[in-house]
Amino acid sequence: MTTREELEIRLQIERTRVSAIIEKAKEERLDEIKSGEEMVAFVHEDACIGCDQCPTVCDDDAIEMFSKPMKNTLIEVSSNRKAKIIRDKCTGCRLCVLVCPTDAITMIER
Ligand code: SF4
Ligand code: SF4
Repeated sequence: MTTREELEIRLQIERTRVSAIIEKAKEERLDEIKSGEEMVAFVHEDACIGCDQCPTVCDDDAIEMFSKPMKNTLIEVSSNRKAKIIRDKCTGCRLCVLVCPTDAITMIER
């Protein structure tokens, strides 16, 4: 069984990995993505794989994960998780866009 210490080490490794991704992405893409208070993040649910990266980087607690029933009822999975933006909390910082591995998040005008 995984111990609490092992989990904390894994979490720290994941934070470091995500930070590195963000820094790299910032350099490459930041100018291309609109940001600011007039913008809000939007999740394209079909592209979301429920990886938990976006709630990890959102400093404003503006992203919740929720479980959604599978469209194909022949496939049994314990949980089909998706991200949801809490619009009122989103400050339009675009960090979630940078970190999403499937490009499931875009910035849209409010
Ligand atoms: S744009 Fe920023 S504040 Fe809004 S959901 Fe994404 S990470 Fe959170
Ligand atoms: S980072 Fe992208 S794929 Fe991962 S949970 Fe967020 S929206 Fe879904």
